[in-house]
Amino acid sequence: MEKLLQNIINECYPYIKNGEVATYIPELAKADKNEFGICTASHGEGINGVGDYKKSFTMQSIAKTVILLRALEDKGEEGVRRLVGVEATGKPFDAFNYSDQALKSEHINPMINAGAIALCTLIDGKTYQEKFQRLLDLTRKIAGNPSLDIDEDVYLSEKATGNKNRALTYMLKAYGIINEDAEEVLDCYFRACSIKVTSVDLAKIAFVLANRGMDTLSGKQIFDKNHAKYINAVLMTCGMYDGSGEFAVTVGVPAKSGVGGGIMAVVPGRMGIGIYSPALDSKGNSCAGIKALELLSKELELSIF
Ligand code: GLU
Repeated sequence: MEKLLQNIINECYPYIKNGEVATYIPELAKADKNEFGICTASHGEGINGVGDYKKSFTMQSIAKTVILLRALEDKGEEGVRRLVGVEATGKPFDAFNYSDQALKSEHINPMINAGAIALCTLIDGKTYQEKFQRLLDLTRKIAGNPSLDIDEDVYLSEKATGNKNRALTYMLKAYGIINEDAEEVLDCYFRACSIKVTSVDLAKIAFVLANRGMDTLSGKQIFDKNHAKYINAVLMTCGMYDGSGEFAVTVGVPAKSGVGGGIMAVVPGRMGIGIYSPALDSKGNSCAGIKALELLSKELELSIF
């Protein structure tokens, strides 16, 4: 496996030059565009990593997966469906113009900013600090890594500059989708986006999702298998921003990317994949990361279709 992953890194490295690191969150602009790591977790082969697979970066939008899981575990499918829909918007992750009519829950999904921000309100907890702590604890549990924490600099950087997310949150309030204090909700969302992981953590989280909530190492069911089905379905249709259709055709597995340069891919029943390469294409997806998944999918016949 490591040899295959190394060949893929070598082949995809040139694609890095097609992208740029995210700069709209000032702290993310400090990333080294040339870093590239891949890690897989699979039955039989265990954990295999190559390149910069031990390098940490912030989850950014990949945290939307855990926010959705936390909300599903706390309020069930019905509670989540009442607040946030499941249809792909076909628009960028931070778009305002969902529809010409009033904004309704069915216009947003858990993998766009508005949907993830709304879902933070469903997390159990008396305060937003408590809600975030429960989210972080769940992330630690599914990654099997109790030391996961936030990158304070990235968190503060986004909190200081995230006015588009502020506007989205007020829009959710204006249309009565949420009623909470905007800054409190946003604080939870910004902290979630700032959780620092490595490609190994992403591969392990994806592997639990691939096994429908089962941690195969301990043999423990960590969360409801129906919630894994729900999440994987949403990742398949909405996880790669407005590039999800293309990704379904070229790679064919549920996945989530983040503007920190990470991609987490779930191969149902078989494998979890974590990738880090921070040079992004115009949609916000890692250029080399997408290419690597394309090659890996072809080589190992990973597409679920
Ligand atoms: N924290 C980022 C934002 O809300 C996450 C976006 C992303 O990774 O797509 O702008």
